[in-house]
Amino acid sequence: MQRPVYLDHHATTPVDPRVFAAMAPYLQGCFGNASSASHAYGREAAEAVTHARRQVAEAVGAAPDDVVFTSGATESINLAIQGACRAHKGERRQLITVATEHKAVLDTCAGMAALGYRTRVLPVGADGRVALSELREALATPTLLVAAMAVNNEVGTVQPVAAIAEAAHAAGALLFCDGAQALGRTPLQLRAWGVDLCSVTAHKCYGPKGVGALVARPEVALDPLFFGGGQERGLRPGTPAVPMLVALGEAMALAEAEREADEARIGALRDQLWAALQRDVPRVALNGGWAHRVAGNLNVSIACVDAATLMVALPDLAVSAGSACSSGTPKPSHVLRALGLDDEAALSTVRFGLGRGTTEADVRFAARRVAEEVAKIRASSPLWALTEAGVDVQWG
Ligand SMILES: *Cc1c(COP(=O)(O)O)cnc(C)c1O
Repeated sequence: MQRPVYLDHHATTPVDPRVFAAMAPYLQGCFGNASSASHAYGREAAEAVTHARRQVAEAVGAAPDDVVFTSGATESINLAIQGACRAHKGERRQLITVATEHKAVLDTCAGMAALGYRTRVLPVGADGRVALSELREALATPTLLVAAMAVNNEVGTVQPVAAIAEAAHAAGALLFCDGAQALGRTPLQLRAWGVDLCSVTAHKCYGPKGVGALVARPEVALDPLFFGGGQERGLRPGTPAVPMLVALGEAMALAEAEREADEARIGALRDQLWAALQRDVPRVALNGGWAHRVAGNLNVSIACVDAATLMVALPDLAVSAGSACSSGTPKPSHVLRALGLDDEAALSTVRFGLGRGTTEADVRFAARRVAEEVAKIRASSPLWALTEAGVDVQWG
Protein backbone atom coordinates (compact mmCIF):
# COMPACT_ATOMS: atom_id res chain seq x y z
CA MET A 1 0.00 0.00 0.00
CA GLN A 2 1.22 3.46 -0.85
CA ARG A 3 1.93 5.75 2.10
CA PRO A 4 -0.31 8.81 2.45
CA VAL A 5 0.96 12.09 1.00
CA TYR A 6 2.56 13.92 3.93
CA LEU A 7 1.43 17.53 4.33
CA ASP A 8 1.81 17.91 8.09
CA HIS A 9 5.28 19.46 8.42
CA HIS A 10 4.24 21.68 11.34
CA ALA A 11 3.60 18.57 13.45
CA THR A 12 6.95 17.01 12.62
CA THR A 13 9.34 16.54 9.71
CA PRO A 14 11.13 13.44 8.38
CA VAL A 15 14.85 13.13 9.18
CA ASP A 16 16.89 14.43 6.24
CA PRO A 17 19.22 11.65 4.94
CA ARG A 18 22.19 14.03 5.37
CA VAL A 19 21.28 14.46 9.04
CA PHE A 20 21.02 10.71 9.48
CA ALA A 21 24.42 10.22 7.79
CA ALA A 22 26.02 12.77 10.13
CA MET A 23 24.67 11.18 13.31
CA ALA A 24 25.10 7.51 12.38
CA PRO A 25 28.84 7.20 13.26
CA TYR A 26 28.07 8.43 16.79
CA LEU A 27 25.61 5.57 17.28
CA GLN A 28 28.32 3.04 16.40
CA GLY A 29 32.12 3.39 16.64
CA CYS A 30 32.24 6.91 18.07
CA PHE A 31 30.35 6.08 21.23
CA GLY A 32 32.45 8.02 23.75
CA ASN A 33 31.13 10.07 26.64
CA ALA A 34 31.73 13.72 25.80
CA SER A 35 32.37 14.39 29.49
CA SER A 36 35.27 11.85 29.61
CA ALA A 37 38.17 13.85 28.21
CA SER A 38 40.91 11.48 29.40
CA HIS A 39 40.93 9.35 26.22
CA ALA A 40 40.33 9.56 22.49
CA TYR A 41 36.75 8.22 22.66
CA GLY A 42 35.69 10.99 24.98
CA ARG A 43 37.63 13.66 23.12
CA GLU A 44 36.12 12.76 19.74
CA ALA A 45 32.64 12.91 21.28
CA ALA A 46 33.44 16.25 22.93
CA GLU A 47 34.64 17.64 19.60
CA ALA A 48 31.40 16.56 17.95
CA VAL A 49 29.38 18.31 20.67
CA THR A 50 31.47 21.48 20.28
CA HIS A 51 30.88 21.42 16.52
CA ALA A 52 27.13 20.94 17.01
CA ARG A 53 27.03 23.81 19.51
CA ARG A 54 28.71 26.09 16.97
CA GLN A 55 26.25 24.99 14.23
CA VAL A 56 23.24 25.73 16.44
CA ALA A 57 24.61 29.14 17.45
CA GLU A 58 25.38 30.12 13.85
CA ALA A 59 21.95 29.07 12.60
CA VAL A 60 20.18 31.43 15.03
CA GLY A 61 22.64 34.34 15.23
CA ALA A 62 23.87 33.53 18.75
CA ALA A 63 27.18 32.65 20.41
CA PRO A 64 28.19 29.01 21.13
CA ASP A 65 28.23 29.78 24.88
CA ASP A 66 24.51 30.65 24.65
CA VAL A 67 23.50 27.11 23.67
CA VAL A 68 22.09 24.74 26.32
CA PHE A 69 21.18 21.36 24.84
CA THR A 70 17.86 19.85 25.94
CA SER A 71 15.40 17.16 24.85
CA GLY A 72 13.34 19.54 22.70
CA ALA A 73 11.26 22.69 22.68
CA THR A 74 8.92 21.69 25.51
CA GLU A 75 11.82 21.19 27.89
CA SER A 76 13.51 24.39 26.68
CA ILE A 77 10.30 26.36 27.24
CA ASN A 78 10.02 25.00 30.79
CA LEU A 79 13.67 25.71 31.55
CA ALA A 80 13.35 29.28 30.23
CA ILE A 81 10.13 30.26 31.97
CA GLN A 82 10.37 28.20 35.14
CA GLY A 83 14.11 28.84 35.36
CA ALA A 84 13.69 32.63 35.10
CA CYS A 85 10.81 32.68 37.60
CA ARG A 86 12.71 30.52 40.12
CA ALA A 87 15.88 32.64 39.82
CA HIS A 88 14.08 35.96 40.22
CA LYS A 89 13.98 37.34 43.74
CA GLY A 90 12.67 40.83 42.95
CA GLU A 91 9.35 42.57 42.61
CA ARG A 92 8.54 41.74 39.00
CA ARG A 93 5.59 39.41 39.39
CA GLN A 94 3.95 39.56 35.95
CA LEU A 95 4.51 37.30 32.94
CA ILE A 96 3.14 38.36 29.56
CA THR A 97 2.34 35.93 26.79
CA VAL A 98 0.14 35.73 23.70
CA ALA A 99 -3.15 33.87 23.12
CA THR A 100 -1.77 31.94 20.12
CA GLU A 101 1.27 30.46 21.90
CA HIS A 102 1.89 26.72 22.09
CA LYS A 103 0.31 24.97 25.09
CA ALA A 104 3.79 24.34 26.49
CA VAL A 105 4.18 28.12 26.90
CA LEU A 106 0.63 28.91 28.03
CA ASP A 107 0.53 26.10 30.58
CA THR A 108 4.03 26.79 31.91
CA CYS A 109 3.18 30.46 32.43
CA ALA A 110 -0.10 29.51 34.13
CA GLY A 111 1.78 27.04 36.34
CA MET A 112 3.97 29.87 37.66
CA ALA A 113 0.98 31.12 39.67
CA ALA A 114 2.22 28.65 42.30
CA LEU A 115 5.36 30.82 42.63
CA GLY A 116 3.35 34.04 42.85
CA TYR A 117 3.44 35.14 39.19
CA ARG A 118 0.36 36.50 37.43
CA THR A 119 0.12 35.87 33.70
CA ARG A 120 -1.37 38.34 31.26
CA VAL A 121 -2.35 36.82 27.90
CA LEU A 122 -2.37 39.32 25.02
CA PRO A 123 -4.92 39.02 22.20
CA VAL A 124 -3.96 38.94 18.51
CA GLY A 125 -5.53 40.51 15.44
CA ALA A 126 -7.24 38.47 12.71
CA ASP A 127 -3.83 38.24 11.04
CA GLY A 128 -2.45 36.46 14.12
CA ARG A 129 -0.03 39.23 15.10
CA VAL A 130 0.24 40.76 18.52
CA ALA A 131 -0.39 44.52 18.72
CA LEU A 132 2.71 46.29 20.05
CA SER A 133 0.54 49.00 21.61
CA GLU A 134 -1.21 46.36 23.76
CA LEU A 135 2.15 44.87 24.71
CA ARG A 136 3.52 48.26 25.80
CA GLU A 137 0.38 48.91 27.82
CA ALA A 138 0.67 45.53 29.57
CA LEU A 139 4.33 46.27 30.32
CA ALA A 140 3.26 49.20 32.53
CA THR A 141 2.91 46.51 35.24
CA PRO A 142 6.35 45.34 36.44
CA THR A 143 7.05 42.28 34.28
CA LEU A 144 9.73 39.62 34.58
CA LEU A 145 9.37 38.03 31.17
CA VAL A 146 7.49 38.28 27.88
CA ALA A 147 6.94 34.96 26.03
CA ALA A 148 6.19 35.37 22.32
CA MET A 149 6.75 32.81 19.57
CA ALA A 150 8.60 33.52 16.32
CA VAL A 151 6.30 31.44 14.08
CA ASN A 152 2.90 30.00 14.94
CA ASN A 153 2.49 26.25 14.45
CA GLU A 154 -1.13 26.37 13.24
CA VAL A 155 -1.47 29.40 10.99
CA GLY A 156 2.22 30.13 10.28
CA THR A 157 2.11 33.73 11.52
CA VAL A 158 5.54 35.37 11.87
CA GLN A 159 5.64 37.71 14.87
CA PRO A 160 7.73 40.92 14.93
CA VAL A 161 10.24 39.43 17.37
CA ALA A 162 12.80 42.27 17.25
CA ALA A 163 10.13 44.88 18.01
CA ILE A 164 8.71 42.73 20.82
CA ALA A 165 12.22 42.37 22.30
CA GLU A 166 12.74 46.12 22.14
CA ALA A 167 9.43 46.81 23.92
CA ALA A 168 10.18 44.19 26.59
CA HIS A 169 13.66 45.56 27.25
CA ALA A 170 12.43 49.16 27.40
CA ALA A 171 10.32 48.03 30.36
CA GLY A 172 13.13 45.99 31.94
CA ALA A 173 11.57 42.61 31.07
CA LEU A 174 13.24 39.56 29.52
CA LEU A 175 12.12 38.20 26.16
CA PHE A 176 11.65 34.48 25.70
CA CYS A 177 10.91 33.45 22.10
CA ASP A 178 9.62 30.00 21.15
CA GLY A 179 11.52 29.43 17.92
CA ALA A 180 10.43 25.82 17.37
CA GLN A 181 8.75 26.55 14.01
CA ALA A 182 11.19 29.20 12.81
CA LEU A 183 14.21 27.17 11.69
CA GLY A 184 14.40 26.98 7.91
CA ARG A 185 11.25 29.09 7.59
CA THR A 186 12.19 32.58 8.71
CA PRO A 187 15.53 34.05 9.84
CA LEU A 188 16.40 34.22 13.53
CA GLN A 189 19.00 36.78 14.62
CA LEU A 190 18.80 36.32 18.36
CA ARG A 191 21.76 38.44 19.48
CA ALA A 192 21.01 41.27 17.05
CA TRP A 193 17.34 41.30 18.04
CA GLY A 194 18.11 41.16 21.77
CA VAL A 195 16.27 37.88 22.38
CA ASP A 196 17.30 36.67 25.86
CA LEU A 197 15.98 33.11 25.65
CA CYS A 198 14.87 31.00 22.66
CA SER A 199 13.68 27.39 22.31
CA VAL A 200 14.49 25.29 19.24
CA THR A 201 13.84 21.63 18.40
CA ALA A 202 15.34 19.30 15.80
CA HIS A 203 12.20 17.48 14.68
CA LYS A 204 10.59 20.59 13.19
CA CYS A 205 13.60 21.11 10.90
CA TYR A 206 14.35 17.60 9.53
CA GLY A 207 16.15 16.24 12.57
CA PRO A 208 15.09 13.52 15.03
CA LYS A 209 12.50 13.88 17.79
CA GLY A 210 13.74 14.28 21.34
CA VAL A 211 16.53 16.83 20.99
CA GLY A 212 16.61 20.61 21.03
CA ALA A 213 18.20 23.57 22.75
CA LEU A 214 17.53 26.58 24.88
CA VAL A 215 19.57 29.46 23.51
CA ALA A 216 20.14 31.57 26.63
CA ARG A 217 22.58 34.46 27.00
CA PRO A 218 24.81 33.50 29.97
CA GLU A 219 24.03 36.75 31.84
CA VAL A 220 20.31 35.87 32.10
CA ALA A 221 19.67 34.45 35.58
CA LEU A 222 18.14 30.96 35.37
CA ASP A 223 17.70 28.28 38.02
CA PRO A 224 18.08 24.70 36.75
CA LEU A 225 15.16 22.28 36.89
CA PHE A 226 17.45 19.24 37.25
CA PHE A 227 20.59 18.75 39.33
CA GLY A 228 23.52 16.46 38.53
CA GLY A 229 26.94 16.46 36.92
CA GLY A 230 27.06 20.14 35.97
CA GLN A 231 26.88 19.72 32.17
CA GLU A 232 25.44 22.52 30.02
CA ARG A 233 26.48 25.29 32.46
CA GLY A 234 24.76 23.34 35.21
CA LEU A 235 21.43 24.19 33.61
CA ARG A 236 20.87 20.76 32.05
CA PRO A 237 23.06 18.14 33.65
CA GLY A 238 23.30 14.58 32.33
CA THR A 239 25.55 12.77 29.83
CA PRO A 240 25.31 14.59 26.47
CA ALA A 241 23.24 12.68 23.88
CA VAL A 242 26.06 12.93 21.34
CA PRO A 243 24.34 11.39 18.25
CA MET A 244 21.24 13.51 18.87
CA LEU A 245 23.25 16.70 19.34
CA VAL A 246 25.18 16.01 16.12
CA ALA A 247 21.83 15.58 14.36
CA LEU A 248 20.44 18.81 15.83
CA GLY A 249 23.49 20.77 14.71
CA GLU A 250 23.44 19.32 11.20
CA ALA A 251 19.65 19.78 10.82
CA MET A 252 19.80 23.41 11.92
CA ALA A 253 22.83 24.21 9.76
CA LEU A 254 21.12 22.71 6.68
CA ALA A 255 17.81 24.41 7.46
CA GLU A 256 19.47 27.82 7.62
CA ALA A 257 21.75 27.23 4.61
CA GLU A 258 18.81 26.12 2.44
CA ARG A 259 16.14 28.37 3.95
CA GLU A 260 15.78 30.85 1.12
CA ALA A 261 15.74 28.23 -1.65
CA ASP A 262 13.35 25.98 0.33
CA GLU A 263 10.98 28.81 1.12
CA ALA A 264 10.84 30.00 -2.50
CA ARG A 265 10.06 26.51 -3.82
CA ILE A 266 7.65 25.58 -1.02
CA GLY A 267 5.91 28.96 -1.22
CA ALA A 268 5.20 28.47 -4.92
CA LEU A 269 3.67 25.04 -4.18
CA ARG A 270 1.59 26.45 -1.32
CA ASP A 271 0.27 29.17 -3.65
CA GLN A 272 -0.67 26.49 -6.21
CA LEU A 273 -2.52 24.54 -3.51
CA TRP A 274 -4.44 27.62 -2.40
CA ALA A 275 -5.34 28.52 -6.00
CA ALA A 276 -6.60 24.97 -6.65
CA LEU A 277 -8.68 24.91 -3.46
CA GLN A 278 -10.22 28.29 -4.24
CA ARG A 279 -11.09 27.05 -7.74
CA ASP A 280 -12.48 23.63 -6.76
CA VAL A 281 -13.90 24.02 -3.24
CA PRO A 282 -16.70 26.57 -2.85
CA ARG A 283 -16.73 28.60 0.37
CA VAL A 284 -13.22 27.97 1.57
CA ALA A 285 -11.71 30.68 3.76
CA LEU A 286 -8.10 31.40 4.67
CA ASN A 287 -7.28 31.70 8.39
CA GLY A 288 -4.63 34.17 9.47
CA GLY A 289 -3.06 36.91 7.40
CA TRP A 290 -1.20 36.43 4.15
CA ALA A 291 1.60 38.99 4.54
CA HIS A 292 3.37 37.65 7.64
CA ARG A 293 3.11 33.93 7.06
CA VAL A 294 5.73 31.22 6.50
CA ALA A 295 5.76 29.74 3.00
CA GLY A 296 4.69 26.17 3.80
CA ASN A 297 1.54 26.97 5.77
CA LEU A 298 -2.04 26.96 4.54
CA ASN A 299 -4.83 26.93 7.12
CA VAL A 300 -8.38 27.00 5.78
CA SER A 301 -11.94 26.64 7.03
CA ILE A 302 -14.37 24.77 4.76
CA ALA A 303 -18.01 25.75 5.36
CA CYS A 304 -20.37 22.96 6.46
CA VAL A 305 -17.59 20.34 6.61
CA ASP A 306 -16.54 18.81 9.92
CA ALA A 307 -12.76 18.56 9.68
CA ALA A 308 -12.60 15.35 11.73
CA THR A 309 -15.05 13.70 9.28
CA LEU A 310 -12.97 14.96 6.37
CA MET A 311 -9.77 13.47 7.88
CA VAL A 312 -11.46 10.05 8.11
CA ALA A 313 -12.48 10.35 4.45
CA LEU A 314 -8.88 11.15 3.45
CA PRO A 315 -6.70 8.25 4.63
CA ASP A 316 -4.44 8.93 1.64
CA LEU A 317 -3.57 12.41 2.89
CA ALA A 318 -1.70 13.31 6.09
CA VAL A 319 -3.01 16.73 7.07
CA SER A 320 -4.21 18.03 10.39
CA ALA A 321 -7.59 19.22 11.61
CA GLY A 322 -7.00 22.32 13.71
CA SER A 323 -4.00 21.81 15.96
CA ALA A 324 -2.19 18.48 15.96
CA CYS A 325 -1.69 18.85 19.68
CA SER A 326 -5.41 18.98 20.33
CA SER A 327 -6.50 16.46 17.68
CA GLY A 328 -8.31 13.54 19.24
CA THR A 329 -10.20 16.01 21.41
CA PRO A 330 -13.22 17.71 19.88
CA LYS A 331 -12.25 21.08 21.35
CA PRO A 332 -11.73 23.87 18.84
CA SER A 333 -8.15 25.11 18.66
CA HIS A 334 -7.31 27.97 21.03
CA VAL A 335 -5.29 29.56 18.23
CA LEU A 336 -8.23 29.71 15.82
CA ARG A 337 -10.49 31.01 18.59
CA ALA A 338 -7.92 33.73 19.31
CA LEU A 339 -8.05 34.73 15.61
CA GLY A 340 -11.77 35.33 16.07
CA LEU A 341 -13.21 32.14 14.53
CA ASP A 342 -16.37 30.75 16.10
CA ASP A 343 -16.47 27.09 17.17
CA GLU A 344 -18.15 25.91 13.93
CA ALA A 345 -15.50 27.53 11.74
CA ALA A 346 -12.68 26.31 13.99
CA LEU A 347 -13.98 22.73 13.80
CA SER A 348 -14.15 22.91 10.00
CA THR A 349 -10.47 23.82 9.70
CA VAL A 350 -7.70 21.96 7.88
CA ARG A 351 -4.02 22.76 8.27
CA PHE A 352 -1.68 21.96 5.38
CA GLY A 353 2.02 22.03 6.19
CA LEU A 354 4.23 21.74 3.10
CA GLY A 355 7.89 20.86 3.44
CA ARG A 356 11.20 19.97 1.89
CA GLY A 357 9.93 16.74 0.33
CA THR A 358 6.66 18.14 -1.04
CA THR A 359 6.23 17.92 -4.82
CA GLU A 360 3.89 19.51 -7.33
CA ALA A 361 2.21 16.11 -7.76
CA ASP A 362 1.56 16.00 -3.98
CA VAL A 363 -0.12 19.38 -4.07
CA ARG A 364 -2.29 18.54 -7.09
CA PHE A 365 -3.31 15.24 -5.48
CA ALA A 366 -4.17 16.96 -2.19
CA ALA A 367 -6.34 19.62 -3.83
CA ARG A 368 -8.19 17.02 -5.94
CA ARG A 369 -8.84 14.66 -3.02
CA VAL A 370 -10.00 17.43 -0.68
CA ALA A 371 -12.36 18.77 -3.36
CA GLU A 372 -13.79 15.25 -4.00
CA GLU A 373 -14.42 14.44 -0.34
CA VAL A 374 -15.78 17.89 0.52
CA ALA A 375 -18.30 17.52 -2.31
CA LYS A 376 -19.37 14.08 -0.98
CA ILE A 377 -19.76 15.32 2.60
CA ARG A 378 -21.74 18.35 1.47
CA ALA A 379 -24.00 16.23 -0.75
CA SER A 380 -25.50 14.69 2.39
CA SER A 381 -25.52 17.89 4.45
CA PRO A 382 -28.91 19.61 4.93
CA LEU A 383 -27.01 22.64 6.22
CA TRP A 384 -25.05 22.88 2.98
CA ALA A 385 -28.26 22.59 0.93
CA LEU A 386 -29.72 25.53 2.86
CA THR A 387 -26.53 27.54 2.52
CA GLU A 388 -26.46 26.91 -1.22
CA ALA A 389 -30.12 27.92 -1.49
CA GLY A 390 -29.13 31.28 -0.04
CA VAL A 391 -30.72 30.76 3.38
CA ASP A 392 -28.81 32.70 6.03
CA VAL A 393 -27.99 29.82 8.36
CA GLN A 394 -27.71 30.82 12.00
CA TRP A 395 -24.83 29.00 13.58
CA GLY A 396 -24.97 27.46 17.03
C1 LIG B 1 6.47 21.41 18.23
C2 LIG B 1 6.41 22.67 19.00
C3 LIG B 1 6.74 22.71 20.36
C4 LIG B 1 7.12 21.46 21.14
O1 LIG B 1 8.35 20.98 20.69
P1 LIG B 1 8.88 19.53 21.18
O2 LIG B 1 10.31 19.51 20.74
O3 LIG B 1 8.03 18.55 20.44
O4 LIG B 1 8.73 19.46 22.65
C5 LIG B 1 6.68 23.93 21.00
N1 LIG B 1 6.33 25.05 20.35
C6 LIG B 1 6.01 25.06 19.05
C7 LIG B 1 5.64 26.32 18.37
C8 LIG B 1 6.04 23.87 18.33
O5 LIG B 1 5.69 23.87 17.05
